[in-house]
Amino acid sequence: MIKTAPVSCSIADNIQRVTQSIREAALHAGRDPQDIQLVAVTKTVMAERLRHAYAAGIRTFGENRLQEAQQKQKSLQELVDVSWHFIGQVQRRKIKDVVGQFDLIHSVESLEQARVMDKHAHDMGITQGILLQVNVSGEPTKGGFSSSDMLKTLPEFERMMHVTVRGLMTIPPWSEDCETARPYFRELREMAHTVKRRDFQRTRMDELSMGMSRDFRVAIEEGATIVRVGTALFGTRNSVEYI
Ligand SMILES: *Cc1c(COP(=O)(O)O)cnc(C)c1O
Repeated sequence: MIKTAPVSCSIADNIQRVTQSIREAALHAGRDPQDIQLVAVTKTVMAERLRHAYAAGIRTFGENRLQEAQQKQKSLQELVDVSWHFIGQVQRRKIKDVVGQFDLIHSVESLEQARVMDKHAHDMGITQGILLQVNVSGEPTKGGFSSSDMLKTLPEFERMMHVTVRGLMTIPPWSEDCETARPYFRELREMAHTVKRRDFQRTRMDELSMGMSRDFRVAIEEGATIVRVGTALFGTRNSVEYI
């Protein structure tokens, strides 16, 4: 049975609860709570509710569909200190529209994709921050680099002058038990360590984007610097809400 999150009576209450949990998990792990960034995942959530979240202190929104994200960016454009992250699969023909529109793209899953991003970022005269999505579990249904491909491919990223790898992202297999995710989070952290030892010039490993509503506490214990939380802030998604 899938457990659903409590109905969101007040987004502000949820934000406070999640923020408090992030703080507790960080302190429990001997980390500074300031080192963990909360990305509010707003896919299927209407723009009006993003405003409530903004009013309650959220400044980073994560979206996984370009068109939906663009509509919300437009309706919230007067909120100038908002940062938008792209967390979904980037289709090839959409790459040019994603580049430059998001402060961080969490979900780069191939060298080919990154090269196209680099080209568009070059044309726009910008540098695009990206994370490499790693399919740590090797599930065939999940996108991302295999762990070995990621490690092999990294030198190629050094030659791209308009994308900057800032770290890694992963989505562990779904499980009701948040502890199931721990080994995958740990492996991602260890991978980042391995990469750091290689002393790349441009490639950075400052960010580990891991942990969602049900397992962000575990992810923080394992070193997450960015947690992507949707349901725990906005309630269970109604997928027809935003079509
Ligand atoms: C939907 C989504 C999330 C948020 O999931 P919740 O369980 O609702 O917190 C996080 N990351 C990605 C990549 C997502 O697609």
